[in-house]
Amino acid sequence: MEKAKVKLPLFGGCLCGEVRYSLSGAPLLVHVCHCHDCQSISGSAYSLTVLVPAAALTLTGPLETFTRTTARGREVRNAACAHCRAGLTSNDVARPDFTALRAGTLDDASWAVPIAQTFVRSAIPWAVIPGIEQVEPKEFNYVNLSAAWRATAPVFSSV
Ligand SMILES: [Zn+2]
Ligand SMILES: [Zn+2]
Repeated sequence: MEKAKVKLPLFGGCLCGEVRYSLSGAPLLVHVCHCHDCQSISGSAYSLTVLVPAAALTLTGPLETFTRTTARGREVRNAACAHCRAGLTSNDVARPDFTALRAGTLDDASWAVPIAQTFVRSAIPWAVIPGIEQVEPKEFNYVNLSAAWRATAPVFSSV
């Protein structure tokens, strides 16, 4: 079967429209996280996250950031629109080359199919997604999961 094609750049933004972004490079990984932090940040059952190369993402507009240290000792910086407060990205401060983008902020996230779900132990029970691999947090290997996701993902191309 021929792979679907998705045109770059991809566009997205916040609720009020003051912050917009464009993604000029192919995403690296789409996954679901059921941890309580993600439940709190999203205000919903889980987060759907698109990992992208930080250099490929350009944001414009009034951003506000909030940095906190997670229970596992990672420093994470979240960015939101300063006007409508919609959350857009998270960055692991120790890994500045990668940005986690909230999939729901994309203008079109129809291609964003997760390859894995993690922190399933803290999932809201009905929200565990059938047919999506469950990965323990300590077995969550970004390199391997990214390779697996890219093997099934559409072809991202600017032409
Ligand atoms: Zn906004
Ligand atoms: Zn999480």
